[in-house]
Amino acid sequence: MSHNTNIFSSNDIDHMIKLSIGLIDYIDGIIYCKKQDDFLNIITLKQELRSFLLANCKHDIIIDDIDVDAERSQRIHYCSKCFSTF
Ligand SMILES: [Zn+2]
Repeated sequence: MSHNTNIFSSNDIDHMIKLSIGLIDYIDGIIYCKKQDDFLNIITLKQELRSFLLANCKHDIIIDDIDVDAERSQRIHYCSKCFSTF
């Protein structure tokens, strides 16, 4: 009999992924608006949310070419669900 160490159901994980994406957007908004004096903790939180997404999302990788400037474009790989880049 295998011992199940996964304490979260896949529904929990899906919900946490959605929450993490929303929180990252929110944190980006705060940083952009410069409403906070102390960014260190929320930047750390954002990095931890990104790590959580990277480890737990069932990534759907998209390959895209983005324009760097008028002449050059750069190929990127990103997840359409969690927006992690690879
Ligand atoms: Zn993903």
